[in-house]
Amino acid sequence: MPLPAVFNSLIDFALPPRCPVCGVTVEADNRFCLSCWRQLDFLAKPWCAACGLPLAFDCPEGSLCGKCLTKPPMHDGVRAVVRYNDKSSLIAMRLKYGTRLGLARLISEHLQKFAAESSANGIIIPVPLHRSRLWRRGFNQSVLIGRELARSTGIGMNYNVIFRRQATPPLRGMSGTQRRRAVDAAFALRSNERSAIAGKSVLLIDDVYTSGSTSNACARLLKKAGAEQVLVFCWARVISDFENG
Ligand SMILES: [Zn+2]
Ligand SMILES: [Zn+2]
Repeated sequence: MPLPAVFNSLIDFALPPRCPVCGVTVEADNRFCLSCWRQLDFLAKPWCAACGLPLAFDCPEGSLCGKCLTKPPMHDGVRAVVRYNDKSSLIAMRLKYGTRLGLARLISEHLQKFAAESSANGIIIPVPLHRSRLWRRGFNQSVLIGRELARSTGIGMNYNVIFRRQATPPLRGMSGTQRRRAVDAAFALRSNERSAIAGKSVLLIDDVYTSGSTSNACARLLKKAGAEQVLVFCWARVISDFENG
């Protein structure tokens, strides 16, 4: 039964909505204060059709960045809400370490606009965590985002298709090829779930897109299982100054 309006206003009075970044009081839940909003770098077209890297000038739809022209990724695009910076990373960290689980809804609200372009054969697949990490943390932040997105868009979610058979080793110091091999080896497909993927347009959910190696490893498996398209949906995308320049 819905609470009478008087109780809602009492709850609002007791727990005023706060900016998810800096904690100042704001007018509604999941709203940023003006100062934090201005410091979040929301990503918009034109971007590389393959990796979502913002392109410096107005390019026709479908243009690729230099890196993707040389070596296109396995996935078919990245839909990131914001650039990874000190403000957006706070949101990712607070969700990941469980201090603000409600942030999954905030992130999914921003991802909804990208889901509209997915066809009726869409399926939401969160990037899996290794079970040891899942036991320690108790939840997978990508599943939380995926669940909210599934609820608001009506697109089904399946979190059994891919699993992490080993924790990814530290990648620092590895060459590009070594890194790719290490990440590829960490993921596997459950063969009995293969039919759930064939012909589907996958919305692969991750919290942060860093080098793209995780998404690529998952996309490779999903394409092998017959996925028609794999789009990476994430909160923040790391853009190095080198890439940006
Ligand atoms: Zn703020
Ligand atoms: Zn690119």
